[in-house]
Amino acid sequence: MSRHLQKREKTVCSVVLRPYCSNACVFCRPLWQDSRMSRKEWQEQLADASRALKEFRREGFERIDVSGGDPLEFSGLPAFIREARRLGFRWIRVSTNGVRLADRSFARRLQAGGVDAFRIPLYGADPGVHDRVTRAAGSFRAAVRGIKNIKSGGSSRVLLTSLLLQQTKNVLEDTFDLMYALGCDDLYFAPAFVSNDDYSYYVPQKFQGRYWRRLLRHALRRRRPVRFCDVPFCVLGFDTDLTDNMQKPAFLGSYFQPSGGQKTVVPDLPRYRRKIKVKICAHCAAAGKCDGFLVNDILRYGIGNLKPVRPDKRAGGQTLVIPAHKRS
Ligand code: SF4
Repeated sequence: MSRHLQKREKTVCSVVLRPYCSNACVFCRPLWQDSRMSRKEWQEQLADASRALKEFRREGFERIDVSGGDPLEFSGLPAFIREARRLGFRWIRVSTNGVRLADRSFARRLQAGGVDAFRIPLYGADPGVHDRVTRAAGSFRAAVRGIKNIKSGGSSRVLLTSLLLQQTKNVLEDTFDLMYALGCDDLYFAPAFVSNDDYSYYVPQKFQGRYWRRLLRHALRRRRPVRFCDVPFCVLGFDTDLTDNMQKPAFLGSYFQPSGGQKTVVPDLPRYRRKIKVKICAHCAAAGKCDGFLVNDILRYGIGNLKPVRPDKRAGGQTLVIPAHKRS
């Protein structure tokens, strides 16, 4: 187990609800697979979620992320949120594809129930790209309407995220502009984790740098903060506080551990998130704050022309860093 995983503080725990998802994102579910759970499975999962809330509170967690596919499809979610609040959670975030937030009264009920933040992905700045990734016509327009509903409701923060994919690599800047136009409170960009063994949408780490640097130059021109998650410093090409490559997995407790095939020896860490250091890391100035490369990328594609980060090579633009206390 890596040192930082052993030492991680009990910050955010996570409950994963999977009632049904109207999207079939390229990196997630094959189109042929039905995402509906049987009534029995769903009842079991709900019972687990209820038990998990109590377990997390017993262990002292006060911050929780409710995610899954898609938690908003669960009509009892407002009551579940209220229950979490009643048990003493002080900060509640819902991670969702955003589609059902297009229903303004449902969005308002969630906000009234006490959701502090919503995390919503945008894969482009128009339906053409976003809906191609989600493989669900209308998902872009619904998510944008949903974000507007949350912003006009006023009481919850909005964290918008995006992924570098073959489909999105040339529209990252447009997505970034749209995120700010929609009034996001926080945002981040990340590479995809490959959990489904399909690499057709994936951009290998050794080729990601040009797209991240182009986005960074754009953010500098716009003077808008940007942040990256799970992007190694050598992929960006310099040492910078703009990226965090020591992201910890959320605490999943006893009830929501990765499924059999994705389990690792590290609690809460699925196989597709494993990282390793390779030879060049021994000569890297950023090695002390980096977990290395994604295993299923580096073993498949290698490091190409990536070089270790030099001690004298630090990026400008540190004013673009979103301070940790402002992150959602
Ligand atoms: S430690 Fe390794 S993976 Fe991390 S930035 Fe340095 S060379 Fe890249």
